[in-house]
Amino acid sequence: MVKLHDLVFEPYVSEEEINEAINKIADKLNADYKDERPVFLSVLNGSFMFSSEIMKKYKGECDIQFVKLGSYKGTESTGDVKTLIGLTKSLAGKKVVILEDIVDTGGTLKELDQILNEKNVADYKVATLFHKPSMYREKFKLDYTGIEIPNEFIVGYGLDYDGLGRNLTSVYKRKS
Ligand code: 5GP
Ligand code: MG
Ligand code: MG
Repeated sequence: MVKLHDLVFEPYVSEEEINEAINKIADKLNADYKDERPVFLSVLNGSFMFSSEIMKKYKGECDIQFVKLGSYKGTESTGDVKTLIGLTKSLAGKKVVILEDIVDTGGTLKELDQILNEKNVADYKVATLFHKPSMYREKFKLDYTGIEIPNEFIVGYGLDYDGLGRNLTSVYKRKS
């Protein structure tokens, strides 16, 4: 059990399960992007650990860029996504792989879709470590999904509750 601010969290997804999910995604990326030079687009802050593992497991040439969007306040999505740190380098003609910690409603992806279309990328795919299918409201395909979960609020492995919990090496869910 872990207490962060006013909430208590209980163990939910182990380090082993996380590593297994990441290995599967990395294997697929290595196969799908063989002889390509993908640009990994890490969506900060939550995806920094996932992004780091994917980079370490990706064998070929690749780049990484970072973007920071925000919509969460406490444990609820505000639905209002803002760009806090934008893209600086050109992505025109590039094959982009979005790296997300978790896809919930899809609001963040919708925002990213608009940003990437304006940048004239060759194509983009989405890799997410976690996904909440019951909350998803968008149509964008999730090309690489690690672990599907019900509508629980989780922390750890990069994911926070008001700034805390990102350094946990496994994932915890809010205790009801
Ligand atoms: P969406 O825009 O898909 O609704 O939400 C995406 C973002 O909200 C994620 O990248 C993540 O930062 C945050 N988020 C969604 N669900 C959770 C959750 O269960 N725990 C935490 N800590 N953040 C979440
Ligand atoms: Mg995120
Ligand atoms: Mg957050």
